[in-house]
Amino acid sequence: MSTLLLKQVSFHYQGGFALQDIDLSLPEKSFLALIGPNGSGKTTLLQLMSGLLQAKSGQVRLQDRPLNTLTRRELARQIAVIASDQYFAFPFPVVEIVAMGRFPYLGRLQKLTDSDRQIVEESLQRTEIGHLRDRPISQLSSGERQRVLLARAIAQSPAILILDEPNTHLDIHHQIEVFRLLQHLNQEHSMTVVVVLHDLTAASTFCRTVALLSEGKLVKTGTPQEVITTETIRSVYRADIEVHPSPMGGFPQISYR
Ligand code: ADP
Ligand code: MG
Repeated sequence: MSTLLLKQVSFHYQGGFALQDIDLSLPEKSFLALIGPNGSGKTTLLQLMSGLLQAKSGQVRLQDRPLNTLTRRELARQIAVIASDQYFAFPFPVVEIVAMGRFPYLGRLQKLTDSDRQIVEESLQRTEIGHLRDRPISQLSSGERQRVLLARAIAQSPAILILDEPNTHLDIHHQIEVFRLLQHLNQEHSMTVVVVLHDLTAASTFCRTVALLSEGKLVKTGTPQEVITTETIRSVYRADIEVHPSPMGGFPQISYR
């Protein structure tokens, strides 16, 4: 059974951009990198997958139910989304932002239980932000904020975790830590992970499946070796690059000319 299934999904904005006939099946425990040039429709596709946008035709199904039949609360327990560059106008303390991940599990006016608080603490530790717990979110660096959002998503304990360019603001230590954490959630907690990445080498190193979008169409889906090839990347990105196997593990990696 697929965790998430997109069947012939199409969508268009008023301005004209269209996503066309997207077929994508995410079996349980999938770890998918969504790649493609700027403006190819990656963020739009993530929004269709997470119910933020409604397909104009075709269907999105979550564990065999049409996504649009789930209540907001049900949806929030199943899918967590980390948008790129989320902005916070209010100076909430970090620990309270992370605690918001538990809201879909609470009744009206119900307070966090001890077990909710424990999940929040674990999420802070796993993302290495325990020392930031009382700092206002509005005063953090982009990289720190990114880890707070990841902690909140972990506290939400969803079946599917969707991330839009999560490593953009992270230094190399925290990039690796985030990917390790995503792999841990994927393997040990059976969480399906979908992540938009610009770093193709990271995509091929850490993700089992890669889907390549170009001008609103999924042009290729498969293993990193199948999708990230010199010919495909050169033509879709119009970039003078060379793909060769990494000396560590043989995953495709990119060299610039
Ligand atoms: P990506 O994430 O791959 O860079 P997006 O999905 O954000 O691409 O955008 C795909 C295309 O849709 C772009 O041309 C963008 O300008 C357009 N677009 C995005 N959001 C909107 C919107 N709300 N209204 C109209 N056009 C949009
Ligand atoms: Mg985008």
